[in-house]
Amino acid sequence: MKKLLAVILSLLLIFTLAACGEKKEEKPIEPQGWYTEGEIKITEKQVKEIVNGKFTTPKNVIVIIGDGMGPNDITLAEEHAEGVYDFGLVLNQIKNCGFATTHSANADVTDSAASGTALATGVKTNNGYIGKDPNGNDLLNMAELARAAGKKVGIITDEVISGATPTAFTVHNISRSNTAELVNSMIKFKPDVLMGKDYNSVFMVLGEEERTIFDNEYLVAKDFKRFKEVLDTDKKCEKPFLGFLDGYSSIPTYNLANCAEVAFNRLKNDKGFFLMIESSGTDKYGHGNDIQGKLNSVVTLDRTVAAALKFMEQNPDTLLVITSDHETGGVKLKDENTKYLSDLLTVNEHTATPVRVFAVGKGSEYFKGKTVDNTDIAKFLFDVISKK
Ligand SMILES: [Zn+2]
Repeated sequence: MKKLLAVILSLLLIFTLAACGEKKEEKPIEPQGWYTEGEIKITEKQVKEIVNGKFTTPKNVIVIIGDGMGPNDITLAEEHAEGVYDFGLVLNQIKNCGFATTHSANADVTDSAASGTALATGVKTNNGYIGKDPNGNDLLNMAELARAAGKKVGIITDEVISGATPTAFTVHNISRSNTAELVNSMIKFKPDVLMGKDYNSVFMVLGEEERTIFDNEYLVAKDFKRFKEVLDTDKKCEKPFLGFLDGYSSIPTYNLANCAEVAFNRLKNDKGFFLMIESSGTDKYGHGNDIQGKLNSVVTLDRTVAAALKFMEQNPDTLLVITSDHETGGVKLKDENTKYLSDLLTVNEHTATPVRVFAVGKGSEYFKGKTVDNTDIAKFLFDVISKK
């Protein structure tokens, strides 16, 4: 009897192995480095399932920053922005959320350099400083920490890569205005994925050494339309990818989310990745007195959150944090005196209003119902990144 059982088991094993072998051969090679251009399709049920799902120890960390996105932007966007999902903003489905204070080392009202540095390093600094403490010393940032932990690094902004937010996460400079130095440092740092606007603003300021790196080591797509074509030439994702979103303003809301999809595809690896994505319209339109543009930019960010959640559906070893570096525009909510939506923008500069923090993934309940400082967000993520 035992012999018969053994024979049956061995036969089963042989069949199983043969079946596995066959499957392996039949399976098409996983396409990498490509992306599906188009709307991010997600349902309310799917969002709820992902947000309330089970997560494992995070290997990947995604930080999405709405530059200048205040709490009232989010409240108003649900009602007045274009392209909100029929169930409302994805953001508002995230239960682990709270607030963060944003003041800098030398001012109650921060700029994007000091708050970017606080979010990227966990240390308060002076307005205008990029990745340096108030004494001018370099601070370890999240991208450097992730790289030291063997992870890949991605930086995406829908503005220029020399902007305060992307640079605060990767490089160091005493002034956010030293654009050429910032671009050169960024090119030398070589994030595995780097995306931003304006090819010329990068190309024209490169030093000799950085030009050589740019020409020989990067995979460059000069505009968004060329992403697919260029990405298809490096399916193994070996080269750092530098993609320019030129023509971006005329293309749809979901394109920042599509950029995120490109990044997920290229960054995914055994050791994990760190990815920072900046949606900048909430600041730009706040300065520009354009409330509709500001609220629509919340949707641009919201689509990116949807793309991140869809990635997390397949990759539960991911932690997602969404926040803002500061509020811009002093946006107030509607009351009985509100005639026009534009009346809700009360100033055209930054304010000290605390910003929202949303988090999904293992450990994200840390933020639930709490007001933390923006440096606490960085400290929390430093722990996560250095653990695995
Ligand atoms: Zn600003």
